[in-house]
Formats: sequence, structure tokens, C-alpha cells
Amino acid sequence: EFMLVRENRSMRVLIVEDELRMASLIRRGLVSEGLAADLASNGEEALWMAPAHDYDAVVLDVMLPDLDGFEVCRRLRGAGVWSPVLMLTARDSVEDCVAGLDSGADDYLVKPFSARELLARVDGHLRLHRLRREAEDALRASQAKFSTAFDRSPLALTITSLDDSRLIEVNEAFVRFTGYSREE
Ligand code: CA
Repeated sequence: EFMLVRENRSMRVLIVEDELRMASLIRRGLVSEGLAADLASNGEEALWMAPAHDYDAVVLDVMLPDLDGFEVCRRLRGAGVWSPVLMLTARDSVEDCVAGLDSGADDYLVKPFSARELLARVDGHLRLHRLRREAEDALRASQAKFSTAFDRSPLALTITSLDDSRLIEVNEAFVRFTGYSREE
């Protein structure tokens, strides 16, 4: 089964869809799986709701009365909203798919779809999101460890560019040993 809780609270999803029947169908599906779901019925509404709440995912219809879903997605990314975005469309066209991914969407669902499918996708993106964050943290930690080891090494060490063998960085032992300053 899905892991639908994050940090001991239920996941919260923003649904952006103007067709009320479709919107409440999606909401019912999510709520029946224990998720909380808010509804925005147009692009402008989505643009003020999403940055104000920390949504775990955004389900975004392409066909909206004001801005289209691609534009909404672009603006959300521009506003620093990095929740996974799943685009919904009635058309299964390659152009839509490309436009959706270009605008910063994470995934693409073609109507009609089942609530289970939507949940499986949302869950998959949440896991990816978490893994990416962990990988970034691990990378930062290993970079910090490397630069500490480099600086504290008793050996005079240098880092040179792979392209032209230019000196990029020298460590403290190198500075002591050669009298070279780091700026040089
Ligand atoms: Ca729509």
C-alpha cells in the first residue's frame, strides 16, 4: 500500500480544476485514501493558494478558464513552489506532454484516470522528492568533509582544472610550504 503520511500528518494536495464534477471526483478519491485536499477553480486562485500552504503535491488541470495549466506551473516554479506538480489533460498529445514538462511539471496524467493511479503517481513523486533532498544533503555533507580534509592535510595539495591544468585551489599546507598566497 501507499505511504501517504508525511511527518505524522496527513498529506495535503491542491487540486486546480474548474470543472466542479471532475474536481470533486478527484477530491473524493484523495480523501477516501486519507489525504486532505483543497480546491482552486482557476489559475489565479492556485497562484495565491500554493505559495501560502506547503502542499505535498499539486494536481493541475491544463484547461483552466484564465491561465492555462502550463502558465500556472511556470509561475509556481518562478515563485519558488517546488511541490510535485501532476498535470491533467484530456488530450494525449506529445506536444502537451513536452509543454508540461518544459513548464516544470513532474508528471502527466491523461483523463480519464482512476483515483488509485493518481495516488500511485503522487506517492511516487513524494518518494522521489524525498530521495532527491536526501541525496542533496549527502552531497553537501561529503563536499564539506572533503574540503575540511583538503584544508587540514599536512601534505601540500592543489586542485587543478581538468581542462587546462590551471590551479584552482591550494590548501593551507601548500601555502605554508611555498609561501604562495591563495589569491595568487
Ligand atoms: Ca478544466
